[in-house]
Amino acid sequence: MLAAPRGFCAGVDRAVLIVEKALAQYGPPVYVRHEIVHNRHVVEGLEAKGAVFVEELSEVPADAPVIFSAHGVPKSVPEEADRRRLTWLDATCPLVSKVHLEAQRHHENGAHILLIGHAGHPEVIGTMGQLPDGAIELIETVGDAENISPSATRNLAYLTQTTLSVDDTAEMIAVLQKRFPHIQAPHKEDICYATTNRQAAVKALAEQVDALYVIGAPNSSNSLRLVEVGQRAGCAVSELVSGQEILDVRALENVKILGITAGASAPEELVQNVITQLQQTFECAVTELAVTRENVEFKLPKALRNTGAEA
Ligand code: SF4
Repeated sequence: MLAAPRGFCAGVDRAVLIVEKALAQYGPPVYVRHEIVHNRHVVEGLEAKGAVFVEELSEVPADAPVIFSAHGVPKSVPEEADRRRLTWLDATCPLVSKVHLEAQRHHENGAHILLIGHAGHPEVIGTMGQLPDGAIELIETVGDAENISPSATRNLAYLTQTTLSVDDTAEMIAVLQKRFPHIQAPHKEDICYATTNRQAAVKALAEQVDALYVIGAPNSSNSLRLVEVGQRAGCAVSELVSGQEILDVRALENVKILGITAGASAPEELVQNVITQLQQTFECAVTELAVTRENVEFKLPKALRNTGAEA
C-alpha cells in the first residue's frame, strides 16, 4: 500500500531542475555546493550529466558556475561567491528562504530568536548563518526548551527547521509558549507542507499495514522523521531503505500488507525499484492511500527562466 503524497516535493523538483537547466545553459561542469538534495541516486544521476558536487566554495574554479543546495546557505557563502566573481545560482527552497526572511525581520525588530532544529543539519547551519553569531539559539529537544534561559524573555521569537516531526515540534513549542507567553510565532508554520503531508499520510498508512518501508537516505531529515512517525503510529517494523539495495525480502514472509512511502528527496523511480523487487518474490496488488493531493510549484531563478535551455 503506497502512501500519497510521497517522494519529491516542489522544492526538490525545483532544485534538481535548476542543476539540469544550468548544465544545459552553461555546459558541464556545473559545480554544486553540498548534495543538491539528500539522495545519492539523485546526486549520481546529476554527476553522470556533468555536475560536480563539492562541500566548499574554495573547491570551485573561478570560471565555473556554482549552485547552492535546496537546504540553503549562510549569508557568507553568496558573499564569498560575489567576492570571487563566481556565477552562482541559488536552489534554496523558497520555503527555507521564507524562514531566512523571518529570522531577518525578527532580528531587525530587536528580537532574540530560538530555532528548533537539528544541530549540524545544513538547513540549520544556513538559517543560523543569516544573522551574526549569538542572534539565534538552537533548541533540539523538549529538555532544551525547558532549560533554555534566553538573554531576552519579552522580545523573543521562535522559528523551526522545515523538515521536523510535526508532533515533537508541537511539544517543544508548547513548552516555550508556557515559559514565555509573549514569544512570537511564525506567521505561517515553518514546517513545510511537504513534510506535514508526508507525515499525515504515514500516520494513516501505519494503522493499516504490518510493516513499513520509508524510501530515503540516512542523512535526509524528513525521511528519518517518517520512520519515527510510522513507529509511533503503531507500525513497529518501520524501516528506512535506500531503494537501490537488494532487499532482504525473506524478512517480509509473514507480512500481508507492506506500506511504502518515500521522503521528499527520494524519486518515484526508487519506489518502483522496490515494488519490482517485491514482485519477483511475491504476488503483489498495489493500492494507494491518499490523504491529500499536492499542486505546489516554485518558479526557477530568473537567470534560468525563458532561456530555451532544455533540461
Ligand atoms: Fe522545500 Fe519542504 Fe521540500 Fe524542504 S521538504 S525542499 S522545505 S518543500
